[in-house]
Amino acid sequence: MQDSFRYKGMRKRLIKELRELGITDDKVLNAFDVIPRHYFLDNAFAEQAYANIPFQIGSGQTISQPYTVAFQTQLLELKKGEKVLEIGTGSGFQTAVLAELGGKIYSIERHRELHLKASTILQHLNYNVRLSFGDGFKGLTTFAPFNKILITCGAPFVPDELLKQLNIGGIMIIPVGEGSKQVMQKITKLSDDDFETKEFGHFSFVPMLEKKVNKS
Ligand code: SAH
Repeated sequence: MQDSFRYKGMRKRLIKELRELGITDDKVLNAFDVIPRHYFLDNAFAEQAYANIPFQIGSGQTISQPYTVAFQTQLLELKKGEKVLEIGTGSGFQTAVLAELGGKIYSIERHRELHLKASTILQHLNYNVRLSFGDGFKGLTTFAPFNKILITCGAPFVPDELLKQLNIGGIMIIPVGEGSKQVMQKITKLSDDDFETKEFGHFSFVPMLEKKVNKS
């Protein structure tokens, strides 16, 4: 896979579209400028990488629509050096965006095949991220607490264990809801048992599944 002026041009057009849709954070938009998103899709679909649509990435999963990735990342208010936990590595594209913003990134994926594929691409692009294969509902106790937690699959409820693994003052972005529609929630941890929740409209994600680690 190679980058080219043509792909760079397609990225500029996508960034313009994201701006028009209300993404204002220049650091987030810059990440979309520098990451070759087509590396995260199979070769045959490279052309679609810069369209603002979700896409199949194998194992019945999708790479989120660029707008959704940008919107969630913007809500996360990630600052350089912060420790971030992502649930649902999928293609690894969102992981690369987080790394590009200067975070110390941990990401969990329940499909071994996707986990391995994302590891290969992110390594190839020289992103120093820590990817785990496992169940995101459990988080990563060894590396907790996190400044930020980002869930990129539709959660049936807000997992208590993940709230525990969030720093006080930390932010969790989580699409909550079963079925085809979720409400985007931004949860700020005010103290060990005090949280502030704000809602940011409807989105559509593949489900966050519990105790279903898939080894094939
Ligand atoms: N961030 C991804 C989005 C992928 S879709 C990207 O940019 O491509 C969401 C992913 O969450 C899927 O790959 C799915 O397998 C994964 N997932 C669902 N439930 C999970 C769980 N309990 N733990 C870890 N990953 C999970």
